[in-house]
Amino acid sequence: MARISNLNSPGYSSRGHGNSPPPAEARLVEIGATLTVRQLADLLQISAVEVIKQLMRNGIMANINQVISYETAAAVATELNYKVCPKPKADRKSATALSEFRKSQRQQDSTTKGLKPRPPIVTIMGHVNHGKTRLLDAIRQTNVMATEAGSITQHIGAYQVEVNGQRVTFLDTPGHEAFTAMRARGAQVTDIVILVVAADDGVMPQTLEAIDHAKAAGVPIIVAINKIDKPGINPELVKQQLADAGLVAEDWGGDVICVPVSAKEKLGIHELLENLLLVAEMEELRVNPSLPGLGTVIEAKLDKTKGPLATVLVYEGRLKVGDIAAVGATWGRIKAMFNDVGKRVRKAEPATPVEILGLNQVPQVGDILKVVASEHQAQSLIQKQLTERPPELKPVNLSNLYDQISAGQVKELNIIIKADVQGSIEPIKNSLTSLGSVEIQVRIIRSGTGNITESDVMLAIASKGIIIGFGVDSEPGAQRLAEIEGVSIRSYKVIYDLISDVSDALKGMLAPTRVEVIEGQAEIRAVFGIGKKGSIAGVYVTEGKINRGASVRLQRGGKIIAESTVSSLRRFKDDVKEVSAGYECGVGIKDWNEFKVGDTLEFFRVELKQ
Ligand code: GDP
Repeated sequence: MARISNLNSPGYSSRGHGNSPPPAEARLVEIGATLTVRQLADLLQISAVEVIKQLMRNGIMANINQVISYETAAAVATELNYKVCPKPKADRKSATALSEFRKSQRQQDSTTKGLKPRPPIVTIMGHVNHGKTRLLDAIRQTNVMATEAGSITQHIGAYQVEVNGQRVTFLDTPGHEAFTAMRARGAQVTDIVILVVAADDGVMPQTLEAIDHAKAAGVPIIVAINKIDKPGINPELVKQQLADAGLVAEDWGGDVICVPVSAKEKLGIHELLENLLLVAEMEELRVNPSLPGLGTVIEAKLDKTKGPLATVLVYEGRLKVGDIAAVGATWGRIKAMFNDVGKRVRKAEPATPVEILGLNQVPQVGDILKVVASEHQAQSLIQKQLTERPPELKPVNLSNLYDQISAGQVKELNIIIKADVQGSIEPIKNSLTSLGSVEIQVRIIRSGTGNITESDVMLAIASKGIIIGFGVDSEPGAQRLAEIEGVSIRSYKVIYDLISDVSDALKGMLAPTRVEVIEGQAEIRAVFGIGKKGSIAGVYVTEGKINRGASVRLQRGGKIIAESTVSSLRRFKDDVKEVSAGYECGVGIKDWNEFKVGDTLEFFRVELKQ
């Protein structure tokens, strides 16, 4: 989502969508890699016609829905007296680029005085039973904010603690599921991941999954080696396993901070938090709290007496009681807000979790909250969000890849590789990454052996990636989820085919694949002779339906004995277009007469899919 920051004066500009003059003082706009003419107009708060005119002055003919590149958008914005910087992405690299930009701006420009540091938002991840929940509790108990000591904490999905006078926000839902679900909806509300690894158990499957998720999102990881109170444990062994997984501890010559802790005995907690602040400092988390609030829903429910409740983390600006906010598909005027210790508050600063009351409906986790000026604006924003799916949320597949690259919407192809044996993975990885170019990088975000699982699909959804199987199947749940979410799964048996498909897709030259869609099944109950050598099968449709012209497979004793197409379809002497389950009919099959009572027929159609 595009954001605009007014760094000179508090609050958004009150200019509407008209032909208002450009701002006297340059304002900062954040522009994504690509956007449409309409989105740029919204961002600059001018009419789309103005943008089109400006583009024409630069020799570019564009319509309102046309996608333009960052460079083009930046040129228009600069000509209209805006300062332009790249929009922060879920990608740490661009976040770093943004923070670099902001740093240089701060040095040159006193107008950035509005930027203030905000607390880091932290998610705890790790394998089941490694102590995530206990660590969250230990952190909460040992660092309750001085002013709120003695208050009863309430579960609102996140809480804040104070470390050396600085605040840190913890998401209260450990594990990578919530993290992934939010990323899949285009929201990323984690700045740092604490990866918990139990010293007595070591790196386990979900530890590896968590690493993949954090890395794919570009979020820095700190490792908490937990349960060090247990006798006979060996933290060095854990570091060895972490190194194998690509996280090399500082004392092993890498850059990953590993802190030994015991959530049970509350050992090492302070050290862990201090290290967290260190990493947070490097992340340069700064926002302008005087802007209208922009945040993400991290928890939502319907309360019998209070109505819809949502916990929101504001990441830009400030949220106040009385504000009108559009939240995903709903909106409302904020009646009251409560913090993580149940205290009524009138405003919420960036990264402070608050439960809000006053929305008309329960929003979804991951929905974006945006403070707007009026009910009318809230409703038109909701309408826009419902009808226009932002390009950054569209799934990528090998067939639309080239178009997305050309439109500048995709700069890297994220791939998950699942193979039958470890030995196949390295050559596939190497061949695929070497296909990358200046326009598009090929990034392997997960590789491993075994069937394609739901967890693989979740990672693909969150990272806009595709899944490639080599000699493996997809688990049914994974297949279903992939179909619902539009995630592309491709399976291969020959490495050459795999590489050449991806290579062709990168060049926009991929041929479609043939997919069979089963339409119905029938049983032969009688055989009728027609003319000299022809015969017709009298069948009963057991499932689905038969369409005239459908492809058909004839099976006898569990074996396929013929494959052809339906040449005639009749009910009571009448030609019909289709016959549904539960009815009898006569079926003729092209070039086939050898029917036998008891044979089964499977009807299908062939679709070409990318
Ligand atoms: P989660 O599934 O990762 O949230 O794990 P839990 O926090 O529920 O902890 C799993 C089990 O490990 C529980 O029985 C905890 O009491 C225990 N546990 C957690 N941290 C420690 C620790 O530091 N030392 C010991 N000895 N046990 C721990």
